[in-house]
Parts: sequence; C-alpha cells; structure tokens
Amino acid sequence: MIPYGKHSIDKSDIDAVLEVLENQFLTQGQQVPLFEKSLCKYTGASYAVACNSATSGLHIACLAAGVKPGDIVWTSPNSFAASANCARYCGAEVEFVDIDKDTRNICLEALTEKLNVASKKGQLPKAIIAVHFAGSSCNMKRMRELVAPHKVMLIEDAAHGLGGKDQYGNPIGSAHYSDFAVLSFHPVKSMTTAEGGAVLTNDAAAAERLRLFASHGISKEKSLLATESRSNPWMYAQHTLGFNYRLSDLHAALGNSQLRRLDHFIKDRRLKAKFYDDNLDCSLMTKPVFDENSAWHLYVIEVEHSRRLAVFEGLRERGIGVNVHYIPIYHHPYYQKLGYSALDTPNCEHYYYGAITLPLYPDLSADNQRKVVNVLHEVLF
Ligand SMILES: *Cc1c(COP(=O)(O)O)cnc(C)c1O
Repeated sequence: MIPYGKHSIDKSDIDAVLEVLENQFLTQGQQVPLFEKSLCKYTGASYAVACNSATSGLHIACLAAGVKPGDIVWTSPNSFAASANCARYCGAEVEFVDIDKDTRNICLEALTEKLNVASKKGQLPKAIIAVHFAGSSCNMKRMRELVAPHKVMLIEDAAHGLGGKDQYGNPIGSAHYSDFAVLSFHPVKSMTTAEGGAVLTNDAAAAERLRLFASHGISKEKSLLATESRSNPWMYAQHTLGFNYRLSDLHAALGNSQLRRLDHFIKDRRLKAKFYDDNLDCSLMTKPVFDENSAWHLYVIEVEHSRRLAVFEGLRERGIGVNVHYIPIYHHPYYQKLGYSALDTPNCEHYYYGAITLPLYPDLSADNQRKVVNVLHEVLF
C-alpha cells in the first residue's frame, strides 16, 4: 500500500541519534537547546520551547495565553482534535469558525461576522487557534487586524506548516502576527523527531511561562527564589502547576538532523503537489488551490459526495492508501455530547463529504505517483 504520508530517514539522521546514545546525556544535554536555537533561526521567531508533542505545545500555549475555565476559544473544525482539545484541557469552551471553501482554513468573512456578534453579546474568545490546513498559511496579518480592537490572543496551530511561508513571505512558525505558533514533528509532518513539537513566540515573558509549564512549573532561576534560599546551591522551586512535556536529547538530535534536510523535503513536496496539479483531470474532481508558499503537508481533492465512498474504497483496493482530512472535530462523540450543530459550519460540512487525501511525501517515487494519478482517473471515469 502506498501510504498517504511517510517520514524520510537517512544515514545522517541515524548517525545523529547514535551519537547521542553514546554520549553522557539522553535528556537535558546539548541537543535540545541547539534544536530550539535552530528552530528560531529557521523561522525567525525569537524564542522556541521544544516539547514532546504539538499537543503538549498547544496545551502550554493556551496556558501561557491565559486560557482558563469559563473562557471561550475559537478554532477551525477542519483539523485534528488536538486543535480543540488543548482549550478543553484548560477548562474552556470551544466554538468553531466555518472554513473558506477554497483555502479550507478559517474563513475571514465568517470570523469577522462572528467577532461582531460576540463583541455585542460580550462573549469574545480569550484566544483563536488558527490552523494552517495542509501547510497553506492562514492570513495571520488580516486575522491580527480583525482581533486588534478586542483583547484576543492568537495561537497558530502550525503542525502542517513548517517549511512553508505566509502571504507576506514570513516563514510559517515566525509568530510574526500571532502570540504563539505551535509545530509538530510527528512522522507524517514536514520533518520528524518521532514524537515532538515546539512552541515559538517573540515575547520573552511568554517564553518563560511556556518553559515553566513544560517542566513541572519548576525553575532553578535564582531571581525567582526567596532571598534566604538563594545561597543554597541545591535549591530549585516549583512556581506553578506544570507538566513534564520536555523533549529528550535523543529526539532533538533527530530533529537537528532533519532540520538540515527540511528545505529538500519541502522542495520535493512542492514538486509532487505540482505534478498532481498538472496531471489530475479537473473535470472529475476539485483540486486544491495551488499555493506556491504552502509546505504541502497534504494534497486533498474533493469529489462528488455520492461517489466519495466508492472512490475511496476503489483506491484502497488498488493499493493507494488514501485518507480523509478531516472528520470535522464536532463530529466526534466527545464533542457531539457537548451539543454542537453541523448547521453552524456549512462549508466545513460540504468540504468533508467530498474530501480525499492523496499520497504526498518526499520519498514518494515518480512511478508510484503516476500510479496514483492513473488509478484515480480509472476509478473516477
Ligand atoms: C498532527 C497535528 C497535531 C498534533 O500533533 P502531535 O505532535 O501528534 O501532538 C495538532 N494539530 C494538527 C493540525 C495536526 O495535524
């Protein structure tokens, strides 16, 4: 079966991990600080806090943004559940903003309208979590302008976006217009650390809060200690209730090695997305809008709703490991029990019932990609 996504590991990656195994530190050595510095350099963000998944990263980003019980957080329904779960961890309510049918990201018109209504009712969200679906950036500059009159924090779920650029040329992850940007290094994403993630920000105080939340709420920082205990060399202190969300040096070593290969991965993904764009018959399906700046995490076509199941099964039977991204978050039983209605987000509903994700990853061979195109055309005719 040709999978829809896959990591690419070469000898340089393996050697980087082996080297750490032979060294003194498996965790909290040199690799994590180096990885954080390299992520800052790559994205242009001032601070990076590595963590053990994007899910952990989203959680501490919400905490650092001040999300608490009774607050409301808005996000896209066309995403992995973690984009909404992070707000639930903090005791907040989640509301979904409908997507744009072309970009499949949060629709800026729907957002404008929802902000107007919420502002009048006094029910503005504490934070908005924007998801760069398939690696194509939301317009964060416009989003920042929209929330500017209100006190709303902006968090980017950039799990799909590393390696891509926004509409103004900023690397995705720069957090240029947002408060936080969260990356994922799960194997299907732009690059991998096996499990792993990072939160990027340009706010020094927020970076310190992130660091505390990711490491038990504990700090060794002398200036934070009570004066009388500062001279005790063993002293550390827990200042808040935090978690163990740290990334290990073993994982970070893989990350450092993969980051050196990232631009090649993205170039490969873009060429393969272009191949689909050039070769797929648009009279049979809707192709994604071709965004030159996308990180091309996913290539999702839309087919007639009545044919989706047959096309999906036909492809799987012929060895093409297609998938669907995403089942709208509010379709999941956990969210259904909280009482969401599909009527609130008609574009997301319409998109979901036609969506099929085709294989796309750096090591997808030209032969296999041609096979995907041919089989898809056969199944659709
Ligand atoms: C993969 C993904 C996550 C979760 O990432 P993990 O690193 O697996 O925790 C969150 N949001 C989106 C949009 C994702 O695709």
